[in-house]
Amino acid sequence: MSISYQETVGVSTTIEIIACIFALFILRSVVKDNKETPYLFGYFISSLLFFYFLNQPPFEIINTGWYLEDIFGTITSVLFGLTICKKSGSSNLSRLLMASFILFTCALMFNESHVFYTMAFSAFCLCISLISLVRAENPNQADKGLAIFLVILLLVIFYELYNLPSGISRREYFETDFYYPLVYFSSLILVLTVFIFTSQLINLTLKYKALATQDALTGLYNRTAVYNLVNNQLALAKRNKQTCSVLMLDIDHFKKVNDQHGHQQGDDAIKLVADQIQYCTREYDISCRYGGEEFFIFLTNTDSNAAFQIAERIRHAVTEQSKDKLYGPLTISVGLTQFQEANSIDENIDTADKALYASKQAGRNQTTVS
Ligand code: GH3
Ligand code: MG
Ligand code: MG
Repeated sequence: MSISYQETVGVSTTIEIIACIFALFILRSVVKDNKETPYLFGYFISSLLFFYFLNQPPFEIINTGWYLEDIFGTITSVLFGLTICKKSGSSNLSRLLMASFILFTCALMFNESHVFYTMAFSAFCLCISLISLVRAENPNQADKGLAIFLVILLLVIFYELYNLPSGISRREYFETDFYYPLVYFSSLILVLTVFIFTSQLINLTLKYKALATQDALTGLYNRTAVYNLVNNQLALAKRNKQTCSVLMLDIDHFKKVNDQHGHQQGDDAIKLVADQIQYCTREYDISCRYGGEEFFIFLTNTDSNAAFQIAERIRHAVTEQSKDKLYGPLTISVGLTQFQEANSIDENIDTADKALYASKQAGRNQTTVS
């Protein structure tokens, strides 16, 4: 029994796509909260069915001139578009895609020139994907690669559309050189898949990297991240002969907030203080949630006088912003020290902590300079 080239290509294509589906299952077990994953599944399955029916004798749907592979080819394009729209968070564009898919399906029932319209519709789906990728908030490198690939793909499709003989059916189009679409489409689907997988993996890595250095509740740095960041800033400050300062902040009588209003309100209060810290400091200052309701701030190029101004600004902002809250008004106590280069980071933190303790002893809701 000899196997034809066509069968070989068909089998290898099917194996490639099944491998992709397995890869997707594996990825799915790691990334559970991805909105685009169901559409990505659909995209693979419909593309698999597309190849399957392309290999079968023509199956026309009740004299409409539409073949099963037309349907699955079109569904594949729509689901790819939806995957990208969901991934980029473009809900309006995904609605537009769904609506145009319904309109397109109805319109095709009354039209003969299927291959032209189905290809044009695929191009439309790819255009929508491209727009949603370009408009995405934080595109990673894989998203940018996908966008470039889509531009090239669209140019190829437009060229094909331009040169398409009028009235040619999809099957006639494919039968002109049957290997071509199999190789062409399977490599296309593989390339798109590689981009989507890579993009998901990059996002996952970034997420875990952020989790390792960031506090989940407030988005500030966590204690682990502080030493590296402060050391970097100190090296820079030393070179530029700049003075730095350290602030330690603690919410006053925080146990009462938890006891009287519950832990959820307590968490909201911590978040409010973190927001005010971020609002009142500069981008290159290092703000960290040091413990439960305790914060550490490293101020670059700031002497103790300027640091005192910042501490007071944060203290007033916290009270002002929390006064109408259920748990409000909150007050905070602050300890401040100008960074002593001769001492370690921990020793400087310790000095600021002692100043904080002095603020507490002196009646809270104030800043002490040490
Ligand atoms: P003081 O004015 O002396 O600082 O009094 P305080 O009540 O704030 O005292 P203390 O700093 O010892 O209280 C810390 C409390 O913060 C105890 C703990 O239950 C609560 N806490 C720590 N982490 C969290 C958190 O993530 N969420 C909430 N809701 N509460 C927390
Ligand atoms: Mg406290
Ligand atoms: Mg405390």
